Amino acid sequence: MKKIVLVGTGMVGMSFAYASLNQNVCDELVLIDINKERAKGEAMDLNHGLAFSKSSMKIFAGEYEDCGDADIVVICAGVAQKNGETRLQLLNRNTAVFKSIIGPVCESGFKGIFLVATNPVDIMTRVTQKLSDFPKERVIGTGTTLDSARLRYLMGEYFGINPRSVHAYVMGEHGDTEFVPWSQALLSTKPVSDVLLDNPQRFSMEELNRIEESVRQSAYKIIEAKGATYYGIGMAIVQICRAILQDENSVLTVSCDLDGHYGHRGVYVGTPSIINRNGIKTLIELSLTGKEMNKLNESCRVLNEHFAGIEFD
Ligand code: NAD
Repeated sequence: MKKIVLVGTGMVGMSFAYASLNQNVCDELVLIDINKERAKGEAMDLNHGLAFSKSSMKIFAGEYEDCGDADIVVICAGVAQKNGETRLQLLNRNTAVFKSIIGPVCESGFKGIFLVATNPVDIMTRVTQKLSDFPKERVIGTGTTLDSARLRYLMGEYFGINPRSVHAYVMGEHGDTEFVPWSQALLSTKPVSDVLLDNPQRFSMEELNRIEESVRQSAYKIIEAKGATYYGIGMAIVQICRAILQDENSVLTVSCDLDGHYGHRGVYVGTPSIINRNGIKTLIELSLTGKEMNKLNESCRVLNEHFAGIEFD
Protein backbone atom coordinates (compact mmCIF):
# COMPACT_ATOMS: atom_id res chain seq x y z
CA MET A 1 0.00 0.00 0.00
CA LYS A 2 1.33 3.44 -0.96
CA LYS A 3 0.57 6.10 1.60
CA ILE A 4 1.16 9.86 1.52
CA VAL A 5 0.50 12.31 4.35
CA LEU A 6 0.00 15.93 3.29
CA VAL A 7 0.68 18.62 5.91
CA GLY A 8 -0.80 21.98 4.89
CA THR A 9 -4.11 21.87 3.03
CA GLY A 10 -3.90 25.36 1.52
CA MET A 11 -3.87 26.14 -2.19
CA VAL A 12 -0.62 24.32 -2.99
CA GLY A 13 -1.39 21.32 -0.77
CA MET A 14 -4.86 20.85 -2.21
CA SER A 15 -3.73 21.33 -5.80
CA PHE A 16 -1.31 18.48 -5.11
CA ALA A 17 -4.09 16.42 -3.47
CA TYR A 18 -6.49 17.00 -6.37
CA ALA A 19 -3.80 16.15 -8.95
CA SER A 20 -2.86 12.99 -7.02
CA LEU A 21 -6.48 11.84 -6.97
CA ASN A 22 -6.77 12.41 -10.73
CA GLN A 23 -3.45 10.68 -11.38
CA ASN A 24 -4.11 7.91 -8.86
CA VAL A 25 -0.65 8.30 -7.38
CA CYS A 26 -1.17 6.49 -4.06
CA ASP A 27 -3.63 4.24 -2.19
CA GLU A 28 -4.06 6.39 0.90
CA LEU A 29 -3.88 10.17 1.30
CA VAL A 30 -4.06 11.72 4.76
CA LEU A 31 -4.71 15.46 5.14
CA ILE A 32 -3.35 17.41 8.13
CA ASP A 33 -3.64 21.14 8.78
CA ILE A 34 -3.49 23.35 11.87
CA ASN A 35 -6.99 24.31 10.76
CA LYS A 36 -8.61 20.90 11.37
CA GLU A 37 -12.01 21.95 10.02
CA ARG A 38 -10.40 22.93 6.74
CA ALA A 39 -8.63 19.57 6.43
CA LYS A 40 -11.94 17.77 7.15
CA GLY A 41 -13.81 19.84 4.57
CA GLU A 42 -11.13 19.24 1.95
CA ALA A 43 -11.22 15.48 2.59
CA MET A 44 -15.03 15.46 2.19
CA ASP A 45 -14.83 17.48 -1.02
CA LEU A 46 -12.19 15.18 -2.56
CA ASN A 47 -14.04 12.03 -1.47
CA HIS A 48 -17.14 13.24 -3.31
CA GLY A 49 -15.07 13.17 -6.51
CA LEU A 50 -14.18 9.49 -6.07
CA ALA A 51 -17.29 8.35 -7.95
CA PHE A 52 -16.00 10.19 -11.03
CA SER A 53 -12.45 8.93 -10.64
CA LYS A 54 -10.62 5.78 -11.72
CA SER A 55 -9.02 5.82 -8.28
CA SER A 56 -10.30 4.15 -5.14
CA MET A 57 -7.95 6.15 -2.97
CA LYS A 58 -8.71 6.33 0.74
CA ILE A 59 -8.71 10.01 1.72
CA PHE A 60 -9.25 11.34 5.24
CA ALA A 61 -8.32 14.17 7.60
CA GLY A 62 -5.89 12.68 10.10
CA GLU A 63 -3.37 13.26 12.84
CA TYR A 64 0.42 13.14 13.05
CA GLU A 65 0.22 9.53 14.35
CA ASP A 66 -0.92 8.61 10.84
CA CYS A 67 2.61 9.36 9.55
CA GLY A 68 4.03 6.22 11.23
CA ASP A 69 3.55 3.94 8.20
CA ALA A 70 3.56 6.61 5.49
CA ASP A 71 5.94 6.45 2.52
CA ILE A 72 6.07 10.21 2.01
CA VAL A 73 5.20 13.25 4.13
CA VAL A 74 4.59 16.21 1.81
CA ILE A 75 4.87 19.59 3.56
CA CYS A 76 3.03 22.56 2.03
CA ALA A 77 2.27 24.31 5.34
CA GLY A 78 3.49 27.80 5.92
CA VAL A 79 2.63 31.35 6.81
CA ALA A 80 2.42 34.18 4.29
CA GLN A 81 4.80 37.13 4.25
CA LYS A 82 3.30 40.05 6.22
CA ASN A 83 3.45 43.65 5.00
CA GLY A 84 6.90 45.05 5.81
CA GLU A 85 8.22 41.68 6.96
CA THR A 86 11.74 40.73 5.83
CA ARG A 87 12.51 37.36 4.22
CA LEU A 88 14.48 36.40 7.29
CA GLN A 89 11.59 37.22 9.65
CA LEU A 90 9.35 35.06 7.45
CA LEU A 91 11.97 32.31 7.58
CA ASN A 92 11.99 32.40 11.37
CA ARG A 93 8.18 32.18 11.50
CA ASN A 94 8.17 29.29 9.01
CA THR A 95 10.88 27.54 11.05
CA ALA A 96 8.54 27.78 14.06
CA VAL A 97 5.76 26.25 11.92
CA PHE A 98 8.12 23.43 10.86
CA LYS A 99 9.12 22.75 14.49
CA SER A 100 5.45 22.13 15.25
CA ILE A 101 5.29 19.66 12.33
CA ILE A 102 8.62 17.79 12.11
CA GLY A 103 8.70 16.82 15.81
CA PRO A 104 5.31 15.05 15.82
CA VAL A 105 5.99 13.44 12.40
CA CYS A 106 9.25 11.93 13.74
CA GLU A 107 7.55 10.86 17.01
CA SER A 108 5.05 8.86 14.94
CA GLY A 109 7.90 6.52 13.92
CA PHE A 110 7.92 7.86 10.35
CA LYS A 111 10.76 6.31 8.31
CA GLY A 112 9.83 7.49 4.84
CA ILE A 113 10.77 10.52 2.76
CA PHE A 114 10.11 14.18 3.51
CA LEU A 115 9.12 16.23 0.47
CA VAL A 116 9.00 19.99 1.11
CA ALA A 117 7.29 22.63 -1.07
CA THR A 118 7.02 25.52 1.42
CA ASN A 119 9.04 28.59 0.44
CA PRO A 120 11.82 29.52 0.51
CA VAL A 121 11.93 25.86 -0.43
CA ASP A 122 15.69 25.21 -0.47
CA ILE A 123 16.08 26.65 3.02
CA MET A 124 12.93 25.02 4.45
CA THR A 125 14.17 21.65 3.12
CA ARG A 126 17.49 22.16 4.92
CA VAL A 127 15.54 23.17 8.05
CA THR A 128 13.54 19.92 7.75
CA GLN A 129 16.73 17.86 7.57
CA LYS A 130 18.19 19.66 10.58
CA LEU A 131 15.04 19.31 12.69
CA SER A 132 14.45 15.64 11.75
CA ASP A 133 18.10 14.52 11.56
CA PHE A 134 16.93 12.21 8.73
CA PRO A 135 19.48 10.83 6.25
CA LYS A 136 19.98 13.60 3.67
CA GLU A 137 18.86 11.43 0.74
CA ARG A 138 15.42 11.14 2.41
CA VAL A 139 14.80 14.90 2.69
CA ILE A 140 13.91 16.45 -0.66
CA GLY A 141 12.62 19.86 -1.73
CA THR A 142 10.66 20.65 -4.87
CA GLY A 143 13.60 22.88 -5.84
CA THR A 144 13.53 24.06 -9.45
CA THR A 145 11.30 21.22 -10.71
CA LEU A 146 8.51 23.65 -11.60
CA ASP A 147 10.95 26.22 -13.03
CA SER A 148 12.44 23.53 -15.28
CA ALA A 149 8.95 22.60 -16.51
CA ARG A 150 8.24 26.29 -17.22
CA LEU A 151 11.57 26.52 -19.13
CA ARG A 152 10.85 23.44 -21.23
CA TYR A 153 7.38 24.74 -22.07
CA LEU A 154 8.74 28.14 -23.22
CA MET A 155 11.64 26.57 -25.16
CA GLY A 156 9.18 24.17 -26.79
CA GLU A 157 7.10 27.16 -27.94
CA TYR A 158 10.18 29.02 -29.20
CA PHE A 159 11.77 26.16 -31.13
CA GLY A 160 8.43 24.65 -32.15
CA ILE A 161 9.06 21.25 -30.61
CA ASN A 162 7.32 19.21 -27.93
CA PRO A 163 8.58 20.22 -24.42
CA ARG A 164 9.16 16.50 -23.78
CA SER A 165 11.94 16.59 -26.38
CA VAL A 166 13.54 19.63 -24.73
CA HIS A 167 16.23 18.55 -22.28
CA ALA A 168 17.09 21.63 -20.27
CA TYR A 169 17.11 22.50 -16.60
CA VAL A 170 16.83 25.44 -14.26
CA MET A 171 19.36 25.08 -11.43
CA GLY A 172 20.20 26.84 -8.19
CA GLU A 173 17.98 28.58 -5.64
CA HIS A 174 14.25 28.40 -6.38
CA GLY A 175 14.20 32.19 -6.51
CA ASP A 176 16.01 35.23 -7.80
CA THR A 177 19.46 33.62 -8.28
CA GLU A 178 18.24 30.57 -10.23
CA PHE A 179 19.80 30.12 -13.69
CA VAL A 180 19.78 27.98 -16.84
CA PRO A 181 23.06 26.17 -17.63
CA TRP A 182 22.66 26.70 -21.39
CA SER A 183 25.85 24.74 -22.10
CA GLN A 184 23.91 21.63 -21.04
CA ALA A 185 20.64 22.28 -22.92
CA LEU A 186 19.64 19.88 -25.71
CA LEU A 187 16.85 19.71 -28.29
CA SER A 188 16.47 15.97 -28.60
CA THR A 189 20.19 15.05 -28.75
CA LYS A 190 21.42 18.30 -30.37
CA PRO A 191 23.04 20.96 -28.14
CA VAL A 192 21.06 24.22 -28.20
CA SER A 193 24.34 26.07 -28.96
CA ASP A 194 24.60 24.08 -32.24
CA VAL A 195 20.96 24.81 -33.07
CA LEU A 196 21.73 28.55 -32.71
CA LEU A 197 24.86 28.27 -34.90
CA ASP A 198 22.94 26.42 -37.62
CA ASN A 199 19.96 28.82 -37.60
CA PRO A 200 21.33 32.34 -36.92
CA GLN A 201 18.39 33.98 -38.73
CA ARG A 202 15.72 32.17 -36.73
CA PHE A 203 17.05 31.70 -33.20
CA SER A 204 19.23 33.84 -30.93
CA MET A 205 20.84 33.74 -27.48
CA GLU A 206 19.13 37.07 -26.67
CA GLU A 207 15.75 35.35 -27.01
CA LEU A 208 16.90 32.46 -24.84
CA ASN A 209 18.06 34.94 -22.19
CA ARG A 210 14.60 36.51 -22.34
CA ILE A 211 13.04 33.07 -21.84
CA GLU A 212 15.31 32.49 -18.82
CA GLU A 213 14.26 35.84 -17.33
CA SER A 214 10.61 35.10 -18.01
CA VAL A 215 10.93 31.76 -16.11
CA ARG A 216 12.56 33.64 -13.20
CA GLN A 217 9.68 36.17 -13.19
CA SER A 218 6.85 33.61 -13.65
CA ALA A 219 5.85 33.35 -10.00
CA TYR A 220 5.80 37.15 -9.56
CA LYS A 221 3.63 37.53 -12.68
CA ILE A 222 1.15 34.84 -11.62
CA ILE A 223 0.96 36.24 -8.07
CA GLU A 224 0.32 39.73 -9.49
CA ALA A 225 -2.45 38.37 -11.69
CA LYS A 226 -4.21 35.90 -9.34
CA GLY A 227 -2.65 36.16 -5.88
CA ALA A 228 -0.81 32.83 -5.69
CA THR A 229 0.58 29.97 -7.77
CA TYR A 230 -0.55 26.42 -7.08
CA TYR A 231 -1.59 24.17 -10.02
CA GLY A 232 1.88 23.82 -11.55
CA ILE A 233 3.60 23.15 -8.23
CA GLY A 234 0.81 20.71 -7.26
CA MET A 235 1.57 18.67 -10.39
CA ALA A 236 5.33 18.93 -9.82
CA ILE A 237 4.85 17.41 -6.35
CA VAL A 238 2.83 14.55 -7.87
CA GLN A 239 5.63 13.84 -10.32
CA ILE A 240 8.24 13.67 -7.53
CA CYS A 241 5.93 11.41 -5.44
CA ARG A 242 5.42 9.10 -8.42
CA ALA A 243 9.19 8.92 -9.03
CA ILE A 244 9.58 7.81 -5.40
CA LEU A 245 6.61 5.44 -5.12
CA GLN A 246 7.18 3.75 -8.51
CA ASP A 247 10.95 3.55 -7.94
CA GLU A 248 11.38 5.32 -11.28
CA ASN A 249 15.00 6.52 -11.17
CA SER A 250 13.72 9.70 -12.85
CA VAL A 251 15.89 12.80 -13.18
CA LEU A 252 14.29 15.88 -11.66
CA THR A 253 15.77 19.20 -10.50
CA VAL A 254 14.81 18.76 -6.87
CA SER A 255 16.43 20.58 -3.98
CA CYS A 256 18.96 18.29 -2.37
CA ASP A 257 22.04 18.43 -0.22
CA LEU A 258 25.35 19.09 -1.95
CA ASP A 259 27.95 16.79 -0.44
CA GLY A 260 31.16 18.07 -2.00
CA HIS A 261 29.44 18.47 -5.40
CA TYR A 262 30.55 21.61 -7.24
CA GLY A 263 32.82 22.30 -4.25
CA HIS A 264 29.90 22.86 -1.83
CA ARG A 265 28.84 20.94 1.23
CA GLY A 266 25.71 21.09 3.39
CA VAL A 267 23.65 23.46 1.25
CA TYR A 268 20.31 22.38 -0.28
CA VAL A 269 19.91 23.66 -3.83
CA GLY A 270 18.07 22.72 -7.05
CA THR A 271 20.15 20.33 -9.13
CA PRO A 272 19.33 17.42 -11.48
CA SER A 273 19.17 14.26 -9.38
CA ILE A 274 18.02 10.68 -9.81
CA ILE A 275 14.94 9.99 -7.66
CA ASN A 276 13.75 6.55 -6.63
CA ARG A 277 12.23 4.58 -3.73
CA ASN A 278 15.09 5.62 -1.43
CA GLY A 279 14.78 9.33 -2.24
CA ILE A 280 17.87 10.88 -3.84
CA LYS A 281 19.84 8.09 -5.49
CA THR A 282 22.56 10.28 -6.99
CA LEU A 283 23.14 13.89 -7.93
CA ILE A 284 24.09 14.28 -11.57
CA GLU A 285 27.05 16.63 -11.49
CA LEU A 286 27.11 18.65 -14.73
CA SER A 287 30.19 20.06 -16.47
CA LEU A 288 29.27 23.70 -15.94
CA THR A 289 31.16 26.55 -17.61
CA GLY A 290 33.02 29.06 -15.41
CA LYS A 291 30.16 31.57 -15.73
CA GLU A 292 27.57 28.95 -14.81
CA MET A 293 29.67 27.88 -11.80
CA ASN A 294 29.73 31.52 -10.64
CA LYS A 295 25.92 31.57 -10.77
CA LEU A 296 25.65 28.34 -8.78
CA ASN A 297 28.15 29.71 -6.24
CA GLU A 298 26.01 32.84 -5.86
CA SER A 299 22.87 30.73 -5.25
CA CYS A 300 24.72 28.72 -2.59
CA ARG A 301 26.08 31.91 -0.98
CA VAL A 302 22.59 33.44 -0.71
CA LEU A 303 21.10 30.20 0.66
CA ASN A 304 23.89 29.72 3.21
CA GLU A 305 23.59 33.33 4.34
CA HIS A 306 19.84 33.04 4.96
CA PHE A 307 20.13 29.68 6.67
CA ALA A 308 22.82 31.07 9.00
CA GLY A 309 20.39 33.83 10.08
CA ILE A 310 17.68 31.44 11.32
CA GLU A 311 17.11 31.32 15.08
CA PHE A 312 16.72 27.64 15.98
CA ASP A 313 16.43 28.02 19.79
P1 NAD B 1 -1.90 28.73 1.96
O1 NAD B 1 -1.85 29.87 2.92
O2 NAD B 1 -3.05 28.57 1.04
O3 NAD B 1 -1.74 27.35 2.77
C1 NAD B 1 -0.91 27.19 3.87
C2 NAD B 1 -1.57 26.19 4.79
O4 NAD B 1 -0.64 25.88 5.86
C3 NAD B 1 -2.86 26.70 5.43
O5 NAD B 1 -3.91 25.80 5.21
C4 NAD B 1 -2.49 26.79 6.92
O6 NAD B 1 -3.58 26.56 7.79
C5 NAD B 1 -1.42 25.71 7.03
N1 NAD B 1 -0.59 25.86 8.22
C6 NAD B 1 -0.03 26.99 8.74
N2 NAD B 1 0.65 26.71 9.86
C7 NAD B 1 0.54 25.38 10.07
C8 NAD B 1 1.03 24.49 11.06
N3 NAD B 1 1.77 24.93 12.08
N4 NAD B 1 0.72 23.18 10.95
C9 NAD B 1 -0.04 22.71 9.93
N5 NAD B 1 -0.53 23.52 8.95
C10 NAD B 1 -0.24 24.82 9.02
O7 NAD B 1 -0.53 28.83 1.13
P2 NAD B 1 -0.24 28.11 -0.27
O8 NAD B 1 -0.58 29.05 -1.38
O9 NAD B 1 -0.83 26.76 -0.24
O10 NAD B 1 1.36 28.02 -0.23
C11 NAD B 1 2.00 27.10 0.65
C12 NAD B 1 3.51 27.23 0.52
O11 NAD B 1 3.93 26.76 -0.77
C13 NAD B 1 4.01 28.68 0.60
O12 NAD B 1 5.20 28.70 1.37
C14 NAD B 1 4.30 29.02 -0.85
O13 NAD B 1 5.27 30.05 -0.97
C15 NAD B 1 4.82 27.70 -1.33
N6 NAD B 1 4.93 27.54 -2.79
C16 NAD B 1 5.99 26.85 -3.25
C17 NAD B 1 6.18 26.68 -4.61
C18 NAD B 1 7.40 25.92 -5.07
O14 NAD B 1 7.76 25.92 -6.27
N7 NAD B 1 8.09 25.25 -4.18
C19 NAD B 1 5.26 27.20 -5.52
C20 NAD B 1 4.15 27.88 -5.03
C21 NAD B 1 4.00 28.06 -3.66
